[in-house]
Amino acid sequence: MTETALSDVVSCLSDYDPNALPVALAQQIIRSFIQPVNAIEKVTIRAALDRVLAADIVSPINVPAHDNSAMDGYALRGGDLVADTALTLRIIGTAYAGRAFDGAVGNGECVRIMTGGVMPDGCDTVVPQEFTQDASDASVTLPAGVVRAGDNRRLKGEDLTAGRAALQKGKILRPADLGLLASLGIAEAPVQRRLRVAFFSTGDELRSVGEPLDAGCVYDSNRYTLYGMLTRLGCDLIDMGVVGDEPAALETAFRSACENADAVITSGGVSVGAADYTKQMMAQLGDVAFWTIGMRPGRPMAFGRINSGGRSAILFGLPGNPVAVMVTFYFLVRDALLHMMGASPAPLPLLRASSQAAIRKKPGRTEYQRGILSTDASGQPQVRITGSQGSGILRSMSEANCMVVLHHGQGNVAAGAPVDVMPFEGLL
Ligand code: AMP
Ligand code: MG
Repeated sequence: MTETALSDVVSCLSDYDPNALPVALAQQIIRSFIQPVNAIEKVTIRAALDRVLAADIVSPINVPAHDNSAMDGYALRGGDLVADTALTLRIIGTAYAGRAFDGAVGNGECVRIMTGGVMPDGCDTVVPQEFTQDASDASVTLPAGVVRAGDNRRLKGEDLTAGRAALQKGKILRPADLGLLASLGIAEAPVQRRLRVAFFSTGDELRSVGEPLDAGCVYDSNRYTLYGMLTRLGCDLIDMGVVGDEPAALETAFRSACENADAVITSGGVSVGAADYTKQMMAQLGDVAFWTIGMRPGRPMAFGRINSGGRSAILFGLPGNPVAVMVTFYFLVRDALLHMMGASPAPLPLLRASSQAAIRKKPGRTEYQRGILSTDASGQPQVRITGSQGSGILRSMSEANCMVVLHHGQGNVAAGAPVDVMPFEGLL
């Protein structure tokens, strides 16, 4: 496969300015540069959870395979029903789930039927047991108007139809999808191989958990937030810890990451005034752009492709500040990794909530403030910001349950005005 150069991608954009790049444009450049890693493996149903489906699953059978009853009751011929008139029917047998009644049902007759029982020949309607009167072993009475013809019958193939795609390539398989595969009798599914992502933190001031904290130093927290976010995304991780600001160490780390992974994520060392070797090494090993993005937190970021030993990997050089790492990951890296994984995810939904307080915001950049979403007394969504929004204050992220997205062109927000929020957690 021929690889596109970053210069080719950005040359098509009339308004490309690496020093003032709107988020949407950065997302667009990243999307046009990356390619899905296509490698398929077959896994059993359970192992397919959260994996990306690599081919359409065509239903080999109808589900359900037969018309059947949605209720416990009596199966009858809808043609026997007479408007505004009670009806007494003769019971000629019983249909259980998994054990059909195999006789024919004539006019004036019915069959006692359990939920899931196959509809007997001639029957198209089920009257639920609780609507009937005077039931004996021999007969049962339906008061007038309790059912219409066709009620309480599940149709053959109404869930899944034989020959149609039940699941589409690119879907990330969730619990319902595992159940759906099982309902088709399919024991294994083709999925994309996991994406291999190598990551490390750069900075001489970083200490690892377990080491003493020397004066002026900080513990490396990005290693753990990245671990968490990448694990949730279903990547195979190559966790390389902290790499010091020293050319030989950085070169070894970048080369090893590149040779063993599809994507490399680093944090730190990409800001404008950075007096370290990280940017230099990125530029030396590949086709890398250094951006100042119109976003807060975030701003500096490196993106491109690095090469070593005949292998190449996509590089995301994230800023060092802990909140900036998470925000750039969620809004610039996550979607790119999903596409590399072969997934075709729908954009994450934004919800409207009323801002409990005024928020200051300058037009011309996208802000991702950390918020707490709740419901007000009348059940409407409302959101408040989690205290100080400094890009080094990881507590703002930990306390939040959503991101308040203040768009590029948006200005100050008045108290009570609606804002867009993106909740962190979903149901599945
Ligand atoms: P940099 O982008 O390298 O200039 O770093 C910006 C800020 O983030 C500095 O205060 C760094 O100490 C801090 N920082 C960088 N990397 C990490 C990390 N892995 N964990 C915690 N803080 C970090
Ligand atoms: Mg640094």
